This record gives sequence, C-alpha cells and structure tokens, in this order.
Amino acid sequence: MNDAMRRAAAILLLVLGGVALWWAGSGAPASASANDAMVATIAAARERVAANDPRLKGASRFEEGGWIYVHLEGEPGAMGYQHGYLLAPEIEDGFAAVSAGMMHSTRRDWEFFRKAAHEMLWPKIDAEYQQELQGIVEGLRARTGSNLDVDDIVAFNAFEELPDYYVPWLNKRQMAANAPNLKSPGNCSAFVAAGSWTKDGQIVMAHNNWTSYRNGERWRIVFDIAPKNGYRMLMDGFPGVIASDDDFGINSDGLMVTETTITQFEGWDPNGKAEFVRARKALQYAGSIDEYTKIMLDGNNGGYANDWLLGDRKTGEIAQLELGLQAYKLWRTKDGVLSGSNWARDPKVLKVDAPEFDPGNKESSPNARRARWDELLKENKGKIDVALAQKMLGDHTDSVEKKEDTNERTLCGHVDGSARGVKEWAWQAYYPGGAVQGKATDATMAKDMRFMARMGHPCGGDFLAKPFLAAHPEFAWEEPYLRDMKAGPWTEFRSGQSPKE
Ligand SMILES: [Zn+2]
Repeated sequence: MNDAMRRAAAILLLVLGGVALWWAGSGAPASASANDAMVATIAAARERVAANDPRLKGASRFEEGGWIYVHLEGEPGAMGYQHGYLLAPEIEDGFAAVSAGMMHSTRRDWEFFRKAAHEMLWPKIDAEYQQELQGIVEGLRARTGSNLDVDDIVAFNAFEELPDYYVPWLNKRQMAANAPNLKSPGNCSAFVAAGSWTKDGQIVMAHNNWTSYRNGERWRIVFDIAPKNGYRMLMDGFPGVIASDDDFGINSDGLMVTETTITQFEGWDPNGKAEFVRARKALQYAGSIDEYTKIMLDGNNGGYANDWLLGDRKTGEIAQLELGLQAYKLWRTKDGVLSGSNWARDPKVLKVDAPEFDPGNKESSPNARRARWDELLKENKGKIDVALAQKMLGDHTDSVEKKEDTNERTLCGHVDGSARGVKEWAWQAYYPGGAVQGKATDATMAKDMRFMARMGHPCGGDFLAKPFLAAHPEFAWEEPYLRDMKAGPWTEFRSGQSPKE
C-alpha cells in the first residue's frame, strides 16, 4: 500500500468512526442539524488526519505586524503540502479575489484559464515545481476539503501573466471584435544602490508593490523556504503562489532580487516557460547576476515582463536586467543606483517590446516617478541606508505638480485619489490600486537573511473600502473582495524566525 492509499484508508476509518458515533448519538438523522453534525464530524476527522501528516514536519506559521510568516522545508511535494495546509484559508480567499479579477477584466470564464494552465503552462513546468504545485492542492484539500485542483492552482499562480500578457496576445491573433482593453500592469517602485551612493558602501535594496488593493491587501505572506535542493530563500509573497511575484527576495548565496514591470509591454510566447516558474527557480538556484540572467532567459515566455533589479552581496555588484521578449539588456555596476518605476529604457526593448510606451510624456505615472526617484536618490547620495529607503518608499512628492500629494505619480501610489487614473495600464479614474506594501534590506541584513517589511501603504496611510465604494459605485463589482487595507508597522523578518522573539 502506498502513502496516499494509507492516508485514504485512515481517513475512511476515522470518517466511519465519526458516522458511527453520530448515528449512536442522534435520534433524528433526517434533520438538518443532524446533517450539519455529520458534516462537521467528517471535517474534524479529515483535519485530524491532515494535521498528523508527516509532510508537515518542520513547517510552521505565525502572524506579526499584519504579515503571515510561514516556514516551508524539504522535498518539493512536502513544501507544497505545507504551503497548502498552513495557508489554506488565505489560499481559498486569495483565489476567489484573484480569479474574479481575471474573469472580470478579460471577459473570459474560469474554464478558459484552467485550459491555458493545463495545455500551455503545465507541460513546461520543471518536475520539482509540478510536485510543489500538486502538494499545495493536497495540503489545501486535506485542511479544508477544497474543490480546487492543480489546473486551478497553476492558473492562479499565473495571475500576473495570463490575463494581461497571454489574453491580449490571443485577442490580437484572433482579431477578437470588441476585445476588452487589456494592458500589461505597472507594478511597483523600487531601487538598488551600491558604492558611493550608500552610507556604508554596500548594497541597499527597496521595493513597494503596486497592484489593486483587492489583491494587494492579500499580498501579506513572508515565505521562509528551506528547499532540499538549491539555496534558502526569504521572500514576500501571495498565498498559494510559489514565486514572490511582486517580487522581493534574498537567498543564502548572497543574491538580492526585486523588480518593476515594463509598462505597455506586448508579446507572449505560448511555447515558453511560465514567468512564475522562472522567477522562483532563479531565486532558488542563482548565486550570481549571470546565473540569474541565464535562468530568466531560459524559456522566456514574455509573461510579466520586468526590469529586474539585482544585487550580489558577495561582490557588491548591482544590476538591472531589462527582460523583454524579443530583446533584453543587462546593466551592471559596483558604484551606482538603479531605480525602477515601470519604464523600459533600452531603445531596442522599447522599440520591439513596448512600442506604445512614450518615455517623453513627463506626466505619466512611470515617468513622473522616474523623475522623482532621480531627484530623491541624488539628494541622498552617500546617505542611503535601510531606514532612509523605508522613508523613500512612502514618498508623496508629485514631480509634475511639484507638491505633496497622494496620487498615481507619487512613489507611494494612491491611484484611488486620482481623477486621471493610469491609462497606460487601463486603470480608470479613482482605480482602487497603488502601493500596497513595502520591503527594504541591505547587504548586512541579507547576509543574516533578514529584511524589513510594512503591510499597507508604505507611508502608513489606510485605505477604507466602505466609504470608497459608496463614493465610487463604478467599482461595485469589487465589493465582495475589496477590504480595508490598514498599514502595519515596519517589522523585521528573518529566516528561521520563531514567533515573538
Ligand atoms: Zn502613501
């Protein structure tokens, strides 16, 4: 008998035991409350079996500062099981919000995304990540009795690349009439600095995640991952997703990784490997900027195209990998600062991969933030450290209006405060999105596998769903999913952390 059969048999015995107990204790088996009792008994039996699963050995979870910290370790299948089990309620909740958004913007049903995951993405996923994704399904089902299967979880993991990269490419090929206006997203403000730019001459890296508040309020996981193969990783992330995906992570071989997306990127290769797989693999296996670049290029599908900002604390070198589909460019230096706010800069990448993007429009969100980064980083040359980086992530200077504001042009984005929205990303006026959390670290912290993180707007401001929806009924479809996003405190996390140390 294999493990799966043994587990199934154990569950069956417990369920039968539960049914027998319920039968003995119930005088009215046909009543609704008796049925409820039986369902509860079966669920309790399933949970007892799941909690004793040997795959959970070494895994743990605690909550701090508005974040949920999970430690995963071991074989890929076991890590997946731990992930699915420990974050089951958050995965169910995150899946509901994310899948609703994917269907709403693309006007495609969920079956469409399941099919894309099954036929296009799954066959090119490395075996170890297939096992991990399968493990997530098993852990999730063991904990909650979820109906989600591996196609659901794979489509969900690709939530940054299927709706905004694959679907527009497909619509164009199919010349779909009345196709929805889909644009690749503009996620994040970030920088990496080294040499004469930082206080101690070593690397400083910081990032705030821009996305819808609907998804962003759920982007609150700190993953501490000790895989059987590859390097130890500490990264922020989304429940149920195997890559950081926004992205911010460090590994035990000294690599420091973040990114901002390329605005108005177009293109998709259906024969490529999903971006979420390449990004996870690169953080797990790359020990240098060259290795990172090689893994990201291997099977590049154009999905979630980013300007990757990298640091190697072993050499003190930083880099920017502008990863288009038809072109890419790598810049590297030991003395400089590289910032990102969703603009590509290589002429070839701009021409072939983001042809609609206008680098000359100073009023757009990417370019206005680019100007602000230039100004702010220059002002602070030689003084940049983690504390200052945290402050920069909450910056509210609008470089166009030359004043303090909270809108789509500030490094800490509040697009819900802007009548302009961001047309380059198809974010309409007052779109409930912007900076949803921030992280910062430096070479010293990365050496001990530590970073600082703040949930919510990095400035500390709160978003409140109810008054927003009352003022903006055009977003009523989000009501079941849109929640308050209250800022937490800046909190330090590190690998191997236990609760309340
Ligand atoms: Zn703010």
